[in-house]
Amino acid sequence: MTHDLGHQITCIDTQHLRPNAVAAYLIQDGEYAAFVDTGCHLSVPILLQTLEDKGVKRENVSYILTTHIHLDHAGGLGELIKYLPNAIAYVHQRGARHMIDPTRLKAGVLAVYGEVFFKQTLGDLIPTPEDRIKIPEDGESIKLGNRTLTFIDTPGHARHHYCVWDEASKGIFSGDTLGASYREFDTAKGELIFPPTTPVQFDPSAWHNTIDKLLKLQPECAYLTHFSRMPFSEDNAQKLKNGIDSFAAIALKHKGSKNRFEVIKKSLGRYLLHCAAEHDVSLEKTLQMTLFEDDLGICTQGLDVWLSRQ
Ligand SMILES: [Zn+2]
Repeated sequence: MTHDLGHQITCIDTQHLRPNAVAAYLIQDGEYAAFVDTGCHLSVPILLQTLEDKGVKRENVSYILTTHIHLDHAGGLGELIKYLPNAIAYVHQRGARHMIDPTRLKAGVLAVYGEVFFKQTLGDLIPTPEDRIKIPEDGESIKLGNRTLTFIDTPGHARHHYCVWDEASKGIFSGDTLGASYREFDTAKGELIFPPTTPVQFDPSAWHNTIDKLLKLQPECAYLTHFSRMPFSEDNAQKLKNGIDSFAAIALKHKGSKNRFEVIKKSLGRYLLHCAAEHDVSLEKTLQMTLFEDDLGICTQGLDVWLSRQ
């Protein structure tokens, strides 16, 4: 369930939804460690097991860095921090209050997904004590042993999103900001990347600016939540920008359709299959659609909300 990415970084498969879909990361430096993202409430035993496997004492976990408060990234925070007595959680200024009192966030998720899905797939969402949370400034750095980790405010996917720049590996822990890219779609042409336009704060122009801001760091790679390490270059940045523009264009084209949700979802599916074909992906189309299925629903919901704001 884990794989080593070098630079003392471990990718942890949180097993949320399906294997190889939702990652959390463990960064180590000497005897100290930090988690980046937590998966959902149900993922916490896997994270604790990873500490044991790596020989990291629970009291030596200094930080939990949740890139944003969507539940596949931060849903496990309240549960995880109970076991890590010295860990400070860094949560974006726009998300912190929802982690301290998740009542509204939970109600919103229940309204969209229903009680059964919530219990079976996410488990729960419990409060994080206020005195365990810090709010990072844009550009602020923290030390993990000798390592420097820097927070960067990154709106576009969500306004409550930051990324973490890791000088040591020249990598960006990017949450959902640098796209989703499943390793099953890697080919000789590189990575297939698309934008998770999750509800409710998709903002195409802010997202473009954020990508440009991150490129200035001259990163070598991104550590994606969906899923794992991906080389990051001008080329992949452009693929992601094209995806953002195409998703927005598909949504706008069908803005007035009667059955808007279904029409957009179908159209996004066709677009992703087309991209995969251009990318020489040889997986069976039905398998491709299975791998895209969860994202298609969520991306369409986000585009639908975005259209309603136009
Ligand atoms: Zn997200």
